[in-house]
Amino acid sequence: MSSPNRRVAQLRELLRRYNREYHELDAPSVPDAEYDRLFHELEELEAANPGLKTLDSPTQRVGGRPLTAFEPVRHAVPMLSIRTETDFGPGGAANFDARVRRELGLPSHLSVEYAAELKFDGLAISLRYESGVLVRAATRGDGETGEDVTHNIRTIDQIPLCLAGQAPAVLEVRGEVYMRRDAFDALNARQRELGEKTFVNPRNAAAGAVRQLDFKIAAKRPLSFFAYGLGEVVDWDIPLTHSGMLDALAAFGLPVCPDREVTRGAAGLIDFHDSIAAKRDKLPFDIDGVVYKVNDRALQTQLGFVSREPRWAVAHKYPAQEMLTTVEAINVQVGRTGTITPVARLAPVFVGGVTVTNATLHNIDRIRQLDVRVGDTVIVRRAGDVIPEVVDVVMDRRPLREESVDLLETRQVPQYEPFEMPTSCPVCGSHVVREEGEAAYRCTGGLVCTAQRKQALLHFASRRAMDIEGLGDKLVDQLVDVGLVRTPADIYRLGILKLAELDRMAAKSASNLLAGIDKSRNTTLARFIFALGIRNVGETTAKDLARHFGKLDGLIEAASREDESAALSVLQSVPDIGPVVAHSIRDFLREPHNVEVIEQLRANGVSWPEFEPSEVVPAGPLLGKTLVITGTLPTLSRDEAKALIEAAGGKAAGSVSKKTDYLVAGEAAGSKLDKAQELGVPILDEAALLALLAKQPE
Ligand code: NAD
Repeated sequence: MSSPNRRVAQLRELLRRYNREYHELDAPSVPDAEYDRLFHELEELEAANPGLKTLDSPTQRVGGRPLTAFEPVRHAVPMLSIRTETDFGPGGAANFDARVRRELGLPSHLSVEYAAELKFDGLAISLRYESGVLVRAATRGDGETGEDVTHNIRTIDQIPLCLAGQAPAVLEVRGEVYMRRDAFDALNARQRELGEKTFVNPRNAAAGAVRQLDFKIAAKRPLSFFAYGLGEVVDWDIPLTHSGMLDALAAFGLPVCPDREVTRGAAGLIDFHDSIAAKRDKLPFDIDGVVYKVNDRALQTQLGFVSREPRWAVAHKYPAQEMLTTVEAINVQVGRTGTITPVARLAPVFVGGVTVTNATLHNIDRIRQLDVRVGDTVIVRRAGDVIPEVVDVVMDRRPLREESVDLLETRQVPQYEPFEMPTSCPVCGSHVVREEGEAAYRCTGGLVCTAQRKQALLHFASRRAMDIEGLGDKLVDQLVDVGLVRTPADIYRLGILKLAELDRMAAKSASNLLAGIDKSRNTTLARFIFALGIRNVGETTAKDLARHFGKLDGLIEAASREDESAALSVLQSVPDIGPVVAHSIRDFLREPHNVEVIEQLRANGVSWPEFEPSEVVPAGPLLGKTLVITGTLPTLSRDEAKALIEAAGGKAAGSVSKKTDYLVAGEAAGSKLDKAQELGVPILDEAALLALLAKQPE
């Protein structure tokens, strides 16, 4: 075969396969932009070599074969495609307008009126109403024959089962079934939870739902609909313009998209194209372009059709939101709280209007689900302001290599290796762990990891932790940025001279800060434990730990024992500490980098009173009791009341449950009071609390 011959045959085979995957299986393996690129290459080759044109070429046909699982529906009026203008700029509209005017033979001073609409990215449907009642809904199929999907279409709330007003004897309404982005996100979240395959985009999800055999599955995927045209019509004076016809469909109760305009000439089309481009990201559904239609229906008839498309309409697309590219590497990023996120480094690709070189892979489960590997060809999606994502791998572009099974036999295995999460943090070298039931891996070097540094320092200095007066976020930013502070221990090594190096740091504020730092050296064990920022260890847990262990070394020793189950059970012997919290404490205190910082803090004068564990249990009147405070008390602040309760051996908890012994309620108490009443928890006012505190312990 000569070379254009061979290429034409190759392209037809590929396009037929992609058509089948897209139109018949609702599972395309390449993005539309890739299909469009090959389609245009074929169109150009056929135009340059007219001898190669055949009627069965994909350039001459619409859609795919209807599936035999559905009843066939013959369309009285064929369902066509729309020609696509590939020029993304103003040239696209101008080309169309010039062609229409030429074909209509219009003199240059007359402009054409157009109806400009959105090009919804969904699935074309024909709804047949007889005397106002929905009797059939069919897909486009190959344009001549579609599939009967009435059972699924009836589950779409937006599609009226009966038309409003005086309906024609027969009215076939053509339109697009689509899925809103929020419904799509919710659907994918559900699929992920069930461990099932996620959908690449809302169009595939919608198309798959419409072509379900079981209407219950379709009903679970919330779909929407917009009408944009007509099929067969009997006994109706169709309005003379396309826009008038859409108004009439809306009056029948059919959803018609409000983002449409009647405009004149190429300039009007360009304005519409640009104004929609500016708000494309904010629309609640995906569009892939706009459609221009000659508004006057008599002129439409005059212009007529070519094989697969009307001559009076054109689709003017926007830059694609999905493109193919290759994964050059997979790196991990460490977030401010230690979460480790895998990121694909991509060969640069223009998608959704920007050049993308990185795309999130979310977490290891997603990587496994997609089976994405370094070297793979992948589909990257960037829709709206959402960060770019790898949504699928083009498996048949992954090369295979031979691997020997034994001396005689070899087998084909993928050339690329599966990705493994690193076992240590790429930023600080600390261990990386995955908590039970969590998708994310985390770095355990909370006190030393640069990625987590600012957040950790702010928490350390905060009022309920070390309470370092004057050390707020701006100062933390500055101290970290100039390299004066790397870990919390560095705070206690700051001197007046070093502080003077900082921008806009007056001598007075420097000495105030140093006084604040100095004051914080005397603290309590509970505050210190809380200040460390151990994951899942809040103030109450820190107090529980301090009360139970009395000494920090006792806690460190227990948590970092070689025998993991022994360590976890000691930690879980502390009231209210369960397996998740116990794991977090162990992970943190077993990390040598963290313990080193704790040692440096002590060496720099941070101290607290310590107790023998046996002495620590306070013997107060509220020993073993859990209280919850709500509303405003007449004289005590929340913190004062809490401190009194704790000094009396009680625990101040945040929410009411069956385990709550008393609710202390002040003015404007809300839902906690209702809940306590519901559960029969005794309610105290401030006076009753004080009376209880004054009692001798039992
Ligand atoms: P099309 O989908 O681009 O255009 C025609 C369709 O536009 C109509 O059938 C209708 O459903 C829809 N439409 C949306 N809004 C409309 C409006 N306001 N007025 C009229 N129609 C409106 O063309 P096509 O021939 O149906 O399919 C080609 C498209 O499918 C291309 O975008 C192509 O990339 C994609 N495709 C992709 C693959 C793949 O493998 N990824 C394979 C085949 C086709």
